Amino acid sequence: MPKQNIFEGCPKIINAAGTLTRLSAGPLAPGVLDAMSQADDFAADMFEVQAHASRRIAQATGAEAGLVTSGASAGLLLAAAACLAKLDISRMNALPDAGSNCEVIVARGHRNGYDHALLAAGARFVEVGFTESMAGAGVRDAEPWDYESAVSDRTAAILYVVNTRAQPALEDVVAVARRHNIPVIVDAAAELPPAANLTRFIRLGADLVVFSGGKVLGGPAGTGILCGRAELIMSAALQMLDVDVPRSTWFPPDDFINTSLFDGLPRQGIGRCCKVGKHEVFGLLAALNAFLAESDAVRHTRWMATCTQIAKGLTDQPGLKPIIDGAEDQESVPILTLRCESSVIANQMRAQLLDGDPKIHAGFDPFCPDCILINPTCLRPGDIPLVSKALSAMNF
Ligand SMILES: *Cc1c(COP(=O)(O)O)cnc(C)c1O
Repeated sequence: MPKQNIFEGCPKIINAAGTLTRLSAGPLAPGVLDAMSQADDFAADMFEVQAHASRRIAQATGAEAGLVTSGASAGLLLAAAACLAKLDISRMNALPDAGSNCEVIVARGHRNGYDHALLAAGARFVEVGFTESMAGAGVRDAEPWDYESAVSDRTAAILYVVNTRAQPALEDVVAVARRHNIPVIVDAAAELPPAANLTRFIRLGADLVVFSGGKVLGGPAGTGILCGRAELIMSAALQMLDVDVPRSTWFPPDDFINTSLFDGLPRQGIGRCCKVGKHEVFGLLAALNAFLAESDAVRHTRWMATCTQIAKGLTDQPGLKPIIDGAEDQESVPILTLRCESSVIANQMRAQLLDGDPKIHAGFDPFCPDCILINPTCLRPGDIPLVSKALSAMNF
């Protein structure tokens, strides 16, 4: 059969903005499609599939266990559900009603739209600290004593969202949490590269960490990783996977699920909406393998080549200063940054790029509104001359 053009009737774009969900994320890492296709050749028990994934994720992250989820956001929902219910089956069944033990402490500066996921599981936030440096009213942010003073017998977890500007240091938040035996959930969705971040937050004492599978990892856009303490991952698995069987005929792998730790079997849990199939699990694992097989330096060189090729293809544009941000930092994603004379001109340029054929989506940095950002991570080789050409043809 001739190959069908499945995109007929659906406009394509050029994604120069990075691994954004709204732009369908990035190209799959080498080996992912093949793994998903091989996964289609057999049936398997999903507890065995996730236990297999757990072993591989544990190896890659240094965590005790892991789970493949339908995204980092799904990982946050499952992390909250695990901290709220632990291995108490009746509490699992009651979520999102977590009773009075539902508080999650979070710094105001860490709040963001993705934290809906924790609220959906039944968590309620107790906010601490002020981002006074952002308000222009001071120099500080949340501090360890802010967290300490918010702890009570209603506290179920602390949420920490990683970012280069995030304060206080994760290790200081972990120290407070340890004193009170409270789990710390780390949102590290977009913190790869560097590859060292796969192990970093677990090493610093986080109890649960989430990563996106569809960002730089190069897995299917609808995947993510939740990793951390074995008992919390067990709770998350019980609230996500299908356990609709009589208990007497249920034999999950015992290195993943320790059935002596809980009584009875939960019904379909609050995490069922985070479901993935075997195709996604094996696709994500293949992406993880490919990510670990390539060093940060090689990835950086590959992305730098894309940035320099586009920059070279730019004919002299007065008032447009190209620099490559992160050119010297092998642990970063280098970004071709075009600084315009004003934010108004930058916005006009963005509009022109979106008006072209094909439409080109460029990146935006709220800290640099005068800049057009060209992120190399989702550009296919054929996109490169088209981006150079469109930028050179720009009039402003
Ligand atoms: C992208 C992102 C998420 C959501 O990740 P998905 O894998 O798309 O669910 C959550 N938190 C942060 C900080 C992110 O950048």
